[in-house]
Parts: sequence; C-alpha cells; structure tokens
Amino acid sequence: MDADVIVIGAGLAGLQCARRAQRSGHSVLILEAEDAVGGRVRTDRVDGFLCDRGFQLLNPAYPAVRQWIDVPALELQKFGVGVVVRKGQTATTLAHPIRHPRHALATLRSQLTPVSDVVAFARWMVPALLRHSTASTSARDEMLAASFDAAGFTGRLRRDVIDTFLAGVLADTSGESSANYVRQLMRFFAAGAPGLPRAGMQALPEQMAASLVKPVRLGTAARDLRETADGVKVMTDNGTIRARVAVVAVGAQNVAELTGLPTPVTRGLTTWWFRAPARPRSGPFLMVDATRPGGGPAGPIWHTAVVSEAAPSYAPGGENLVEATTLLDRPDGLAGEADVRRDLARLYLTSTDDWEVLVHHVVPHALPAQPPPLEAPGPKWMGRRILVAGDHRASGSIQGALHSGEQAARTVESVLAS
Ligand SMILES: Cc1cc2nc3c(=O)[nH]c(=O)nc-3n(C[C@H](O)[C@H](O)[C@H](O)COP(=O)(O)OP(=O)(O)OC[C@H]3O[C@@H](n4cnc5c(N)ncnc54)[C@H](O)[C@@H]3O)c2cc1C
Repeated sequence: MDADVIVIGAGLAGLQCARRAQRSGHSVLILEAEDAVGGRVRTDRVDGFLCDRGFQLLNPAYPAVRQWIDVPALELQKFGVGVVVRKGQTATTLAHPIRHPRHALATLRSQLTPVSDVVAFARWMVPALLRHSTASTSARDEMLAASFDAAGFTGRLRRDVIDTFLAGVLADTSGESSANYVRQLMRFFAAGAPGLPRAGMQALPEQMAASLVKPVRLGTAARDLRETADGVKVMTDNGTIRARVAVVAVGAQNVAELTGLPTPVTRGLTTWWFRAPARPRSGPFLMVDATRPGGGPAGPIWHTAVVSEAAPSYAPGGENLVEATTLLDRPDGLAGEADVRRDLARLYLTSTDDWEVLVHHVVPHALPAQPPPLEAPGPKWMGRRILVAGDHRASGSIQGALHSGEQAARTVESVLAS
C-alpha cells in the first residue's frame, strides 16, 4: 500500500480531509490535477495585483473557519458589512449600524430601508436567529422568493437591495434557492466581517497544505479508481497508486467521471479585474445596482467593488483594483469587455476609458445549486472503500467544503479501524 488514505482533489474539502486523517495517525496521499492547491480558491498575480479566480470573501464567522483555520496568520483585510446601492445618479451606503456607526443615520433614514421592509425582513430572519445549528435541515424550507413573499417582505429593500445582493452571492437570479440556506448565510454575514487574506484567497488552501507531512502531488489527475479486495487502486498518467481507502473530493463537474454519480447542478459567474488609475468612490463596500425599474441591475454587472479600498495588499502601491461580476444564468452573463466597461462607467460615474483589464475569469461551476429543502447529505460511500466528499455534499461555501472534508475523514475512520 502507498498510503492508508488517498485523497483526490486538493480543494478545501480534500485538504481538510487529509489534515484530519493525518492528525488521526494515518498516512495520506493527496492528488491534485492542477498545478497548485486550492481548487476554486486560487489567486492570480498580474502585474503586482492579486486577482482571485472569481471574487469571493472569507467569512471568519464560519464555524469551520474558526475551528480549523489560523485566521490571524492570514491577516484578513475586512470588507465593509453593507452595500452601496446605485440608483441612477444616486449612491446610498447601507451598512451595519453598529459596525459602521458613521453610516448608521443615513442607513436608517434611507428610502431604501422603510420601517415596514425592515420589520418584514427581521420577521423572515427570526427562524435563523433562534437556531444555533449550521444546518437548518430539520426546519420547513421553501424557495427564497416565495418565503420573502410569505413574510410580507416585498418592498424596496428587497427589490432594490437584497434580491440583487443575494443573486450575486448565490450566482442565481431565479429566487429558487433554499430560504433556509440563505438565512444561514445572512446570519454568518451579520456575525462576521468577511475579508481577504493579505496574500490573496489562495493563502487559505496554502496554509492548510503547509501542515501536510507529504506534499500534495500536483499535476496528477486521477483517471480512474477501482475497489480491490483489500483497498482501492487509483490510476494516474504516471502509474497506479494503492491505498486502503479513497476520498474523492473533486468539484461537482468532475464527480460523474470518477464515480458514476449524477453531476450536481451548478451555478456560474465571471469576474473581471480592472486596474483603475484614479480611485473610484464607493468605500470598502460591495456595490449593487438598483437602476432598473422594478429592481435589479440595468446592465450585466451584479456586483462590483473597489477591492483595493478594503484590501490594499491586492494592488501595488497606490493603485486601484476593481472587480465586476456577471452571472452566467443571465443572457448577458458573458458580456464583452466594452459592455462591462460601459456599465462600470455608469456605476462609478466616471470614465473607464483608461481602465485596464488585468484578467477575466469565467467560472462555469462556481457553486452547487442550493434548492429547497436544504439538505446536507454528507459524504457518500460508493462501495465500501470509496467516499465522495466536497461542497456539493454539504453547502456551496468555504464552510461547506471544510465541513465536508472533516466529515469524510471521520467517516473513513470506521474502515481504517477494521
Ligand atoms: C467565484 C467563486 C466565488 C465564491 N464565493 C464564495 C464566498 O464568498 N464565500 C464562500 O464561503 N464560498 C464561496 N465560494 C465557494 C467556495 O470557494 C467553494 O465552495 C469551495 O472552494 C469548494 O471546495 P471543494 O474542495 O469542495 O471543491 P474544489 O475547490 O472544486 O476542489 C476540487 C479539486 O479537485 C481537483 N480535481 C478535479 N478532478 C480531479 C482529478 N481527476 N484528479 C485530481 N484532482 C482533481 C480540482 O482541480 C480541484 O482542485 C465561491 C466559489 C467561487 C468559484
């Protein structure tokens, strides 16, 4: 045997699984098809800028992050807890009144936050505030849009702010995601101050990989795997590897080819990264667009941020880095550079002619779909020695991936002990 456990995929789930199995005293080998660890959490360095492969934030309030990640070592640079809402010529900052007291009065007095909407939203959130578990699987669940309607949350705050913000977070504009899942997310948003590591999001998986005894075998794709009489064998382009048990921790789009399980439905997005010579004004907040009559953005961009305002390390001295995210479930999800540039000019009320595209990431399988009822089925056995894990077996988030990896390591214990 080459190892007790072979882990396929060095995303967050695979890395957490490997770390936990190693801590339990097992020998672990981890294979990764790409040239670095991280999976969907990778960072490109472009001309001194840090451009994550798809804009995302690390929320230190996630229980899995609190428990298993050395957050202080990542030197998180915090985003504002709130949003800037663009409506025509007006930009309004709505922010957490306690974390951002400077914006409290404007937030509470804004036409976007009528008391009736705030009360209805609070009513909708109550079930999540009363629950402490991270998996609200036992509660009755329904589609997000229907649950907002049922709570009477139908006014401007929803139409102009929350629907657009959530569509960007979920990469899903249908309103058909699980309401319970979104309640969980909102609870974590309120509890934490999401941010970006000083060295880019990839610092997270790199921190995890650094504690492995055996380095991850990069550039090594598992082509096939089979159960044998006493374990598993994994075929790679460089030969066969044998172990007592295998954990398949690949993303949703690669599950079928290795396991024969159906491919989970996923949601996609694209992120454009721009260098802006002059600093656009929006502060350290995400900006959403409420310009279209009836709500939603008037162009292809669902959210944008001057990332370097919140995370100065993402841009070299004094320069400005702007992200803009489009959603692939929209007809304009693959809008070209000219359209995105025009939309940014409208959103920041400035010319973008001299902005330079650093890189454009198209991420067709960014997140597994999260329909109701919210289920966290957990890792799945394929036979007796092959276990399937990953965010698609928990929830489409850093929390879900870490939790799934940890669960997988615990689950294979029973086989390793026999
Ligand atoms: C653009 C974007 C924005 C996001 N925003 C957020 C956010 O703000 N907050 C949040 O909590 N979460 C966010 N997420 C979700 C979060 O990043 C993912 O849930 C998490 O990273 C998934 O980890 P994973 O280990 O399950 O899968 P993956 O990261 O997909 O890892 C799977 C790994 O398996 C490897 N692999 C595949 N096939 C093989 C093979 N045959 N052999 C060997 N290796 C293989 C892949 O190369 C990959 O490295 C976002 C994701 C994206 C893409």
